[in-house]
Amino acid sequence: MSATDTPSAEVPRDFIRDAIRSDLDAGRHTEIVTRFPPEPNGHLHIGHAKAICLNFGVAQEFGGHCNLRFDDTNPAKEEIEFIDAIKQDVRWLGFDWGEHLYFASDNFEQLYQWAEALVQTGKAYVDDLSADQMREYRGTLTEPGRNSPFRDRTSEESLDLLRQMRAGAFPDGTRVLRAKIDMAADNVNLRDPVLYRILRAPHPRTGEHWCIYPTYDFAHGQTDAIEGVTHSLCSLEFEDHRPLYDWFLDNLPVPSRPRQYEFSRLNLTHTVLSKRKLMRLVQDGYVDGWDDPRMPTLSGFRRRGVPAAAIRDFIGQLAISKSYSTVELAMLEHSIRETLNATAPRRLAVLKPLKVTITNYPAGETEQLEATNNPQDQSAGTRPLPFSREIYVEHDDFMADPPRKFFRLSPGREVRLRFAYFITCQEVIEDDAGNVIELRCTYDPATRGGNAPDGRKVKGTIHWVSAAHAVPAEIRLYDRLFHAAHPAGDDLQNDLNPDALVTLKGCQLEPHLATAEAGQAVQFERQGYFCADPDSRPNALVFNRTIGLRDAWAKMQAKG
Ligand code: ATP
Ligand code: MG
Repeated sequence: MSATDTPSAEVPRDFIRDAIRSDLDAGRHTEIVTRFPPEPNGHLHIGHAKAICLNFGVAQEFGGHCNLRFDDTNPAKEEIEFIDAIKQDVRWLGFDWGEHLYFASDNFEQLYQWAEALVQTGKAYVDDLSADQMREYRGTLTEPGRNSPFRDRTSEESLDLLRQMRAGAFPDGTRVLRAKIDMAADNVNLRDPVLYRILRAPHPRTGEHWCIYPTYDFAHGQTDAIEGVTHSLCSLEFEDHRPLYDWFLDNLPVPSRPRQYEFSRLNLTHTVLSKRKLMRLVQDGYVDGWDDPRMPTLSGFRRRGVPAAAIRDFIGQLAISKSYSTVELAMLEHSIRETLNATAPRRLAVLKPLKVTITNYPAGETEQLEATNNPQDQSAGTRPLPFSREIYVEHDDFMADPPRKFFRLSPGREVRLRFAYFITCQEVIEDDAGNVIELRCTYDPATRGGNAPDGRKVKGTIHWVSAAHAVPAEIRLYDRLFHAAHPAGDDLQNDLNPDALVTLKGCQLEPHLATAEAGQAVQFERQGYFCADPDSRPNALVFNRTIGLRDAWAKMQAKG
């Protein structure tokens, strides 16, 4: 599936794929069915991308299919807005669920019928304990729990109460339906887990139809079974729930028998991957929404200009295993640079403009030079680039009094203008405060295209734009959201990188960029990868820096 050719992406091997292979070889399944089961209570982040690439990837590799299933069992926190956004994100990442779009809520009636069946066979009961009492009766990891005094009420009584719960006879939270398993089980999840709770909240899909809702545990495995899922792949925190997952399947007349496998979640340095923490960043105003380009959400990456192929490439290199690990953010950044290097057209853009007048170039004249679009990809061709007497260069590419190794512009020094001419700095104009505001240079007409016929060399090549043709833009320089490698604690504020967004105004771009489409990556030569932001307007262009050309953080760490 991966758009690049990393061997790990082509022939993935891991314990999950091995299990699937042996199931197929043994004839236990004819078609592999997986599912990606997001809860629509937030936006997808790069951790979810691991689950998406695994579930959809495995289904594709083995010629099966993957369901997109919304796990919408908790209406208190769920919204339609999230459902639509999640669909968009999965599609953007490059996966297609075809006709297999499902909602756990599609099965509410069936699940309820199964709950009644458990009550009728003495395997579930209605409990009147309060939440606090239930917690107390549950015991701890080291002490067994105690039976609720309501555990032994008759099936008839429990059934009657369950029906009244459904009919809305009781206030929220006053009773629950629990499985009758074992209050002394070592695994706390088996200590009579809750199957249904009373909750009056309008559900995005079923509206006011229900006032009791199944728990994740009661819904998940049975929904897998109804959908014919063969391999239910989830993250490691569900490992202790597996005995319960199996208990329901063993005790209910489900139409198929799925199996749950657990793999370790993706953790990334300099990042938080928890919807709750991400929600806090949005609500407390540290970022401008879920799709802020600093966010590790898929919508944030998309807006920042990260191609979906880079994310797939990164995920394809991760081990699918059961061991906890935290992956260096630099690894994702590497995938982003590699992908963009191969695909992004090169453009010229001056972030901090310094005016240069070419005194021996005719006033009012314009010529079109030829610029290569992508040296990595000859088929990308060339584009015309206008040149004239007044241009902008990068302020940082000039030094009045340069150190020895500075090969760019300085008084008397000759440099190459990319795709254009050699120029020599003849005069430096300063304002009253001594700031350099303009350079006066001469050019050598014989060096058109950037080479001297007499073979003379220059050490510096700098980028530029023609002042009369350039389009102004705001540029948002994005960097890592957290300076801390392992942002910790609930107060994330101290770990935030204050320079994660630096906004530059009055940047000057080559004219081609006036029509750039939002999200389409380009390389600004010598600067990094950028894309137009959705905020961009024809006369008020806005570009985002996706990532710099080199890993500035590694350099900083090496310097110490
Ligand atoms: P969060 O912890 O960010 O709130 P979640 O697990 O509650 O995420 P869900 O919507 O329930 O979010 O997740 C859908 C699927 O994505 C689940 O199968 C979950 O295991 C998987 N998933 C979530 N986060 C990660 C992660 N960091 N790495 C791998 N898989 C993940
Ligand atoms: Mg979850």
